[in-house]
Amino acid sequence: MYLLKLSVPSIIYEPLTNVTDLEEELKCLQENCWKQELELYEHETMIPERPLKQNYDSLRHNAAWYMRKELVADCVVRGGCCSRKCGCCRQRHLDSGRKKGIGHCTEECACCCTYRDMEPSAKDKEEFAKRLRGLLQSDNPACLLRMANVYFLDYGFCGFKIG
Ligand SMILES: [Zn+2]
Ligand SMILES: [Zn+2]
Ligand SMILES: [Zn+2]
Repeated sequence: MYLLKLSVPSIIYEPLTNVTDLEEELKCLQENCWKQELELYEHETMIPERPLKQNYDSLRHNAAWYMRKELVADCVVRGGCCSRKCGCCRQRHLDSGRKKGIGHCTEECACCCTYRDMEPSAKDKEEFAKRLRGLLQSDNPACLLRMANVYFLDYGFCGFKIG
Protein backbone atom coordinates (compact mmCIF):
# COMPACT_ATOMS: atom_id res chain seq x y z
CA MET A 1 0.00 0.00 0.00
CA TYR A 2 1.26 3.41 -0.97
CA LEU A 3 1.38 5.88 1.90
CA LEU A 4 1.63 9.54 1.21
CA LYS A 5 4.36 10.85 3.36
CA LEU A 6 4.04 14.47 4.27
CA SER A 7 7.32 16.23 4.32
CA VAL A 8 8.07 18.25 7.38
CA PRO A 9 9.99 21.44 6.66
CA SER A 10 13.43 21.18 8.08
CA ILE A 11 13.64 24.92 8.66
CA ILE A 12 11.46 26.50 11.28
CA TYR A 13 11.12 30.11 10.28
CA GLU A 14 12.16 32.68 12.83
CA PRO A 15 10.13 35.88 12.82
CA LEU A 16 12.17 38.71 11.32
CA THR A 17 11.54 40.93 14.31
CA ASN A 18 10.47 39.62 17.64
CA VAL A 19 7.33 40.82 19.40
CA THR A 20 9.25 42.47 22.23
CA ASP A 21 11.15 44.67 19.73
CA LEU A 22 7.89 45.69 18.04
CA GLU A 23 6.24 46.45 21.39
CA GLU A 24 9.25 48.54 22.35
CA GLU A 25 9.09 50.44 19.04
CA LEU A 26 5.34 51.02 19.44
CA LYS A 27 5.90 52.36 22.97
CA CYS A 28 8.57 54.78 21.66
CA LEU A 29 6.29 55.95 18.82
CA GLN A 30 3.35 56.53 21.17
CA GLU A 31 5.56 58.50 23.54
CA ASN A 32 6.89 60.53 20.62
CA CYS A 33 3.35 61.27 19.37
CA TRP A 34 2.32 62.42 22.83
CA LYS A 35 5.35 64.72 23.08
CA GLN A 36 4.72 66.17 19.62
CA GLU A 37 1.03 66.78 20.42
CA LEU A 38 2.11 68.66 23.54
CA GLU A 39 4.60 70.68 21.51
CA LEU A 40 1.93 71.48 18.91
CA TYR A 41 -0.44 72.56 21.68
CA GLU A 42 2.26 74.85 23.11
CA HIS A 43 2.80 76.46 19.70
CA GLU A 44 -0.97 76.85 19.21
CA THR A 45 -1.23 78.75 22.49
CA MET A 46 1.21 81.31 21.02
CA ILE A 47 -1.10 82.18 18.09
CA PRO A 48 -2.72 85.58 18.68
CA GLU A 49 -6.46 85.14 19.35
CA ARG A 50 -7.92 87.48 16.75
CA PRO A 51 -8.08 86.94 13.92
CA LEU A 52 -5.43 84.23 13.51
CA LYS A 53 -6.45 81.71 16.21
CA GLN A 54 -10.11 82.09 15.27
CA ASN A 55 -9.31 81.38 11.64
CA TYR A 56 -6.99 78.53 12.58
CA ASP A 57 -9.69 76.83 14.71
CA SER A 58 -12.47 77.50 12.23
CA LEU A 59 -10.44 75.94 9.43
CA ARG A 60 -9.83 72.82 11.53
CA HIS A 61 -13.52 72.24 12.31
CA ASN A 62 -13.44 70.10 9.19
CA ALA A 63 -11.14 67.17 10.07
CA ALA A 64 -10.17 66.94 6.39
CA TRP A 65 -9.14 70.60 6.21
CA TYR A 66 -5.63 69.64 5.09
CA MET A 67 -7.07 68.21 1.86
CA ARG A 68 -7.46 71.74 0.49
CA LYS A 69 -6.23 71.83 -3.04
CA GLU A 70 -3.05 73.82 -2.36
CA LEU A 71 -1.81 71.26 0.17
CA VAL A 72 -2.77 68.32 -2.07
CA ALA A 73 -0.86 69.95 -4.94
CA ASP A 74 2.15 70.41 -2.66
CA CYS A 75 2.02 66.72 -1.64
CA VAL A 76 1.83 65.71 -5.33
CA VAL A 77 4.88 67.80 -6.25
CA ARG A 78 6.85 66.36 -3.31
CA GLY A 79 6.02 62.82 -4.51
CA GLY A 80 3.81 62.03 -1.49
CA CYS A 81 0.85 59.66 -1.45
CA CYS A 82 -1.38 62.23 -3.24
CA SER A 83 0.78 61.64 -6.34
CA ARG A 84 -0.34 57.99 -6.35
CA LYS A 85 -3.65 56.14 -6.09
CA CYS A 86 -3.12 54.64 -2.58
CA GLY A 87 -5.37 57.25 -0.94
CA CYS A 88 -3.35 57.37 2.30
CA CYS A 89 -3.64 61.13 2.82
CA ARG A 90 -7.38 61.21 2.21
CA GLN A 91 -7.93 58.38 4.72
CA ARG A 92 -5.55 59.67 7.38
CA HIS A 93 -8.10 61.69 9.38
CA LEU A 94 -10.50 58.72 9.32
CA ASP A 95 -7.97 55.99 10.18
CA SER A 96 -6.15 57.81 12.94
CA GLY A 97 -7.64 58.14 16.40
CA ARG A 98 -5.59 61.30 16.72
CA LYS A 99 -7.12 64.66 16.02
CA LYS A 100 -3.98 66.79 16.00
CA GLY A 101 -1.23 67.04 13.46
CA ILE A 102 -2.95 65.02 10.73
CA GLY A 103 -1.70 66.03 7.32
CA HIS A 104 0.15 65.00 4.20
CA CYS A 105 3.16 62.75 3.93
CA THR A 106 6.40 63.58 5.60
CA GLU A 107 9.65 62.06 4.37
CA GLU A 108 9.02 59.26 6.87
CA CYS A 109 5.61 58.16 5.50
CA ALA A 110 5.71 54.34 5.53
CA CYS A 111 3.80 54.07 2.22
CA CYS A 112 6.15 56.55 0.48
CA CYS A 113 9.24 54.79 1.90
CA THR A 114 7.94 51.46 0.60
CA TYR A 115 7.22 53.02 -2.83
CA ARG A 116 10.72 54.53 -3.00
CA ASP A 117 12.24 51.41 -1.47
CA MET A 118 14.32 53.52 0.89
CA GLU A 119 14.07 55.24 4.23
CA PRO A 120 15.55 58.68 4.78
CA SER A 121 18.70 58.72 6.88
CA ALA A 122 19.09 61.02 9.89
CA LYS A 123 21.24 63.22 7.61
CA ASP A 124 18.49 63.37 4.95
CA LYS A 125 15.92 64.40 7.57
CA GLU A 126 18.23 67.10 8.89
CA GLU A 127 18.73 68.36 5.32
CA PHE A 128 14.95 68.47 4.61
CA ALA A 129 14.31 70.41 7.84
CA LYS A 130 17.15 72.83 7.01
CA ARG A 131 15.79 73.48 3.51
CA LEU A 132 12.26 74.16 4.84
CA ARG A 133 13.64 76.52 7.50
CA GLY A 134 15.62 78.28 4.76
CA LEU A 135 12.48 78.80 2.66
CA LEU A 136 10.43 80.10 5.59
CA GLN A 137 13.15 82.44 6.85
CA SER A 138 14.23 83.68 3.43
CA ASP A 139 14.29 87.41 2.63
CA ASN A 140 11.82 86.51 -0.10
CA PRO A 141 8.54 86.02 1.85
CA ALA A 142 6.66 84.20 -0.95
CA CYS A 143 6.84 80.77 0.67
CA LEU A 144 5.99 82.07 4.16
CA LEU A 145 2.97 84.01 2.86
CA ARG A 146 1.73 81.04 0.89
CA MET A 147 2.00 78.77 3.94
CA ALA A 148 0.33 81.36 6.20
CA ASN A 149 -2.57 81.60 3.73
CA VAL A 150 -3.04 77.87 3.51
CA TYR A 151 -2.68 77.12 7.23
CA PHE A 152 -4.60 80.07 8.65
CA LEU A 153 -7.21 81.39 6.24
CA ASP A 154 -10.47 79.90 5.07
CA TYR A 155 -10.15 82.21 2.10
CA GLY A 156 -6.76 83.33 0.94
CA PHE A 157 -5.81 86.51 -0.81
CA CYS A 158 -6.76 84.83 -4.08
CA GLY A 159 -10.16 83.76 -2.76
CA PHE A 160 -9.47 80.03 -2.66
CA LYS A 161 -11.75 77.75 -0.67
CA ILE A 162 -11.40 74.25 0.81
CA GLY A 163 -12.79 71.63 -1.47
ZN1 LIG B 1 0.18 55.95 0.36
ZN1 LIG C 1 3.01 58.94 1.77
ZN1 LIG D 1 -0.94 63.88 0.40
